[in-house]
Amino acid sequence: MIGIGIVGAKGRMGRAIAAVLKEHERARLVGGADRGDDPTWLAEACDVLIDFSSPAALAGTLAAAEAAGKPVVIGTTGIGDEHHAAIDRAARSIPVLQAANMSLGVNLLAHLVREAAARLGPDWDIEIVEMHHRHKVDAPSGTALLLGEAAAAGRGIDLAAHSERGRDGITGARQSGAIGFASLRGGSVAGDHQVVLAAEGERIELGHRAESRDIFARGAVQAALWLHGRPARRYAMTDVLGL
Ligand code: NAD
Repeated sequence: MIGIGIVGAKGRMGRAIAAVLKEHERARLVGGADRGDDPTWLAEACDVLIDFSSPAALAGTLAAAEAAGKPVVIGTTGIGDEHHAAIDRAARSIPVLQAANMSLGVNLLAHLVREAAARLGPDWDIEIVEMHHRHKVDAPSGTALLLGEAAAAGRGIDLAAHSERGRDGITGARQSGAIGFASLRGGSVAGDHQVVLAAEGERIELGHRAESRDIFARGAVQAALWLHGRPARRYAMTDVLGL
């Protein structure tokens, strides 16, 4: 049995992962840490740490995992360049898997979006629409950005230099080659994403709907089991899924 420690244990995802572990044949819950706790003991006690909390927790999680020499799975979204740099630094000494979305379906969708963007060319406008529950604090969602990165990679462009976010008022016409984002919030939606590729007179829509958080929780546990025993490096969910 692989022992799992959860950072963000009291949150929606933390509780969903604990529920998955209750039934699991190969992994068990060692314990959890939440806001105000020092994750050092948890990193020492577990075989793999899973963090679904907030970007503010990331430095502490990585430091605890590095000190204990344990692999870590990062599912927290809303992370910026400085967080990605910290993950890269930690991945020199421990295995780290970071994924804005842990579901098989979304990672396959990203693969399809990359293909579509590569084949269709820049005269097809790309817009990414997402909807999440009313409690979500970051926008666009980490998954929308993951899909945007896939589209940008297909086109061979830098997403940051080509994204259009939060349009409001007299914005002017759409920039040619831009990748647009729109975020909807409401109710209990676990996560809907739609990628629209629009040209003169036709439109392609590629989408994914998460019906519950369980898909992310199961994916995170699958990632933790896969990561255990791997060499120090940064990994993505596509590595786990062989995409
Ligand atoms: P939530 O608000 O329900 O839970 C977050 C938990 O983290 C809370 O219990 C909070 O107290 C705790 N926390 C906050 N700051 C902390 C800190 N500094 N140290 C320790 N714990 C801290 O949120 P959620 O819906 O469970 O989502 C958590 C994160 O996971 C979000 O960033 C969300 O976007 C992301 N998420 C990722 C995926 C994925 O597949 N990668 C899927 C769903 C959600």
